[in-house]
Amino acid sequence: MNIGLTGTPGTGKTSLSKDLGFNLVSINDYYSDISNGKDSDDNWLIDLEKLNDTIDVKQYSNTIIEGHVAHFLSGLDLIVVLRCHPDKLRKRLALRNYNQEKINENIEAEALSIITEEAFELYHENKVFELDTTESDLPNSMDLLREMINGNIKSNKRVDYSETIMSWY
Ligand code: ADP
Ligand code: MN
Repeated sequence: MNIGLTGTPGTGKTSLSKDLGFNLVSINDYYSDISNGKDSDDNWLIDLEKLNDTIDVKQYSNTIIEGHVAHFLSGLDLIVVLRCHPDKLRKRLALRNYNQEKINENIEAEALSIITEEAFELYHENKVFELDTTESDLPNSMDLLREMINGNIKSNKRVDYSETIMSWY
């Protein structure tokens, strides 16, 4: 079983993917192979064909593939989209020295559920689960993730933080 662990930066992919007893692939390690360089804002230009050539899911087993473009890989058995309330995400991203523009970009994407929507375009919705990390600590979220992977949480409850946008204006 190969799992794509995706989500807006700061939602907890790297922290939660460790110590789950799975092999681990961090897409962060492959940016130079999966992109066509960077744009003028220093963002990697991901090439989806290069991504799928470089990380060929068929070659893996019992592997978690983590990264905010993991859902663009084909052939995954499960996609887990990590979520976080945008106001909380803002704080997490500020702690890692993201500039204001980058913070706003990311919390807007989170408020609009961009990654979940992208995942739905490529995968049937019964393969896509959302895990909200807003109100949990790390160990708690890890337990939930483990349960999700084991098939014990089948809730297709959707996370929607779009209302938050209204409070920004
Ligand atoms: P990503 O890889 O998605 O960018 P990271 O794992 O690098 O995210 O960062 C997430 C940050 O949020 C870490 O500092 C982590 O300790 C913190 N955090 C707080 N609560 C949680 C939670 N419930 N799940 C995941 N991360 C959390
Ligand atoms: Mn990460």
